[in-house]
Amino acid sequence: MKERVAGLVAQFPDQELDGVLISAPENRCYLSGFSGSAGYLFITKDNALLVTDSRYTEQATNQSPDFQIKQVRGGWGWLVEEMKASGVKKVGFESQNMTVSSYNSLIDAIKGDSSLGHVSLVPAPGLAENQRIIKDQNELAMLQLAIDAADRAMDQVCPIITHGMTEKEVAWKMEKAMRDFGADTISFDTIVAAGPNGAMAHHQPSDYVIKDGDPIVIDMGAKVGGYCSDLSRSIAVGEPDETFKKIYDIVLGAQLTAINTVKVGMTGEEADSLSRDVIAEAGYGDNFGHSLGHGVGLEIHENPRVGPRSPDVLELDTVFTVEPGIYLTGWGGIRIEDIVILREGGAVTLSKAVK
Ligand code: ZN
Repeated sequence: MKERVAGLVAQFPDQELDGVLISAPENRCYLSGFSGSAGYLFITKDNALLVTDSRYTEQATNQSPDFQIKQVRGGWGWLVEEMKASGVKKVGFESQNMTVSSYNSLIDAIKGDSSLGHVSLVPAPGLAENQRIIKDQNELAMLQLAIDAADRAMDQVCPIITHGMTEKEVAWKMEKAMRDFGADTISFDTIVAAGPNGAMAHHQPSDYVIKDGDPIVIDMGAKVGGYCSDLSRSIAVGEPDETFKKIYDIVLGAQLTAINTVKVGMTGEEADSLSRDVIAEAGYGDNFGHSLGHGVGLEIHENPRVGPRSPDVLELDTVFTVEPGIYLTGWGGIRIEDIVILREGGAVTLSKAVK
């Protein structure tokens, strides 16, 4: 964790910061190792402080040996004291995370102390998020466990899905299987979209009863050690119709084209177009409404963004999803999603579930 804190501090000069207040839970965990649900980090060039409440003091002490731990009962008094003691002038806060009411109460607390007239609070979004794009070996190991749990659940449950089951039943079987295969929990609400429901990319599992011939989109993920996986497969129950065969082949071709040709240094937009062009050439450009993919890690959606307007550059060792889809109102949808890591020679697929 020391290197991660150093990596954050190394970004201070860009904005002439003297310290940063970390409020986003994933960043708090990434920088300190503390996985509890409440607390702040206040990091200056000379000190790394973790404040939390009495529910978590012991856990924080165990998980964050590199941090000074302080138990507080809420409010901003602790930060006012730290600002005074450390002599900071310019403090960054996570404007992508902090609520307006928290910000306002912090401003009031600073203004309420006449000795802090020289302190300015400035938005500093995305500092830890930038660090999180490239995962270290420990992170990749956790991520792979999360990927494996979802892969194994998908491969175990798909063959036993039959007509007469509801979407909710399939979702529960998948979630149970992911837990059986080592998931701490699920990384987001499981999507099971059968028949016409599959036309809605993020349909919530319902009491819809699956019929023979239905296409089904399943999108799910496991969480292990805080790391999220994200996996989509599309199957047909019984005999697939001609539309399924045709659309499945187009989507799979689009996905494999992107995986086989994406390169280090491309932008998210360029990577997105690798699949989008295949789908557009097949005549279904208007039926692929979402982005090709996204970074994944402590959050299910994180940087880089891999979509039509993303300038994010895909660097060496970046982890992201590749998930093209085609959605046809009244019929259903097909989406195929894997997680890849971008190596020197191209993308390496980390998911192994059968397609
Ligand atoms: Zn995804």
